[in-house]
Amino acid sequence: EAVKLGADGVGLLRSEFLFLERSFAPTENEQFENYSAIAKAVGPDRPVVIRTLDVGGDKPLPYLPIPVEENPFLGLRGIRVLLNRPEIFRPQIRAALRAAEFAKLHIMFPMITTLAEFRAAKGVVREEEKKLGLNPVPVGLMIEVPAAALCAEMLAKEADFFSIGTNDLTQYTLAMDRGHPQLASEIDGLSPAVLKLIKRAVDAAHDNNCWVGVCGGIAGEPQAVPILVGLGVDELSVGLPLVPAVKARIREYSLQECRELADKALEMESAQEVRALCPDSLEEELSLS
Ligand code: PEP
Ligand code: MG
Repeated sequence: EAVKLGADGVGLLRSEFLFLERSFAPTENEQFENYSAIAKAVGPDRPVVIRTLDVGGDKPLPYLPIPVEENPFLGLRGIRVLLNRPEIFRPQIRAALRAAEFAKLHIMFPMITTLAEFRAAKGVVREEEKKLGLNPVPVGLMIEVPAAALCAEMLAKEADFFSIGTNDLTQYTLAMDRGHPQLASEIDGLSPAVLKLIKRAVDAAHDNNCWVGVCGGIAGEPQAVPILVGLGVDELSVGLPLVPAVKARIREYSLQECRELADKALEMESAQEVRALCPDSLEEELSLS
């Protein structure tokens, strides 16, 4: 379906869907079957970025008990869980590596905060590759914690790619729970503070031969697309139904226009001002009619 809709690959395979709503973890073979079916469907010439299990805190699993936490979003989440649970982490990595022959497979870790975490997680991939006698796959991380954006330079030297998770990056930058009903209108990935972190991550990545995607919700928003392109983002990962609209949106602008918009966006004082820079054409038509 993704290929039919014009997608160039899979930018964020949320592997937790295989782990949720069941009472025991999927086995290595079960995961291998799923990852390889997806990789085969996408084909050998397109990338598939598998994100390792991203649970904990707000997304508990019965077979992976985490003590009740006062602030689950600031607790054991994402890579913090996996690094403590090799019996879950290693089979997942092996399953992904075994599926690597069917597509351009990439492995990505969620919620990386420190270089030490990234090194430890990447080390597991390299060890399992050796054991399986397989070639190395590209390994990257999500930039969704401000610390990772601020230290992007160091991370980019050791990563093959970044994918910016603006849903979490926004909540952690603005200190606003991403699901908070009363703060919903203010939790905006186009806030200048978030854009400055994105720019920082993109510049650090490009200085170090690392490509950058955005896989948070704003990647599919018409007002954000030209700005993200202008900031230098190389890849946008969006929900399936949005693929054609995002491609069309990119074609409405030249790269030079996108860069000018991004420069202006970085100078704005609020997310509302940023949004006003490139109104959604549909909204514009409706307001004119
Ligand atoms: C994000 O945080 O932007 C992201 C893509 O991950 P998730 O929404 O699954 O937390
Ligand atoms: Mg996230």
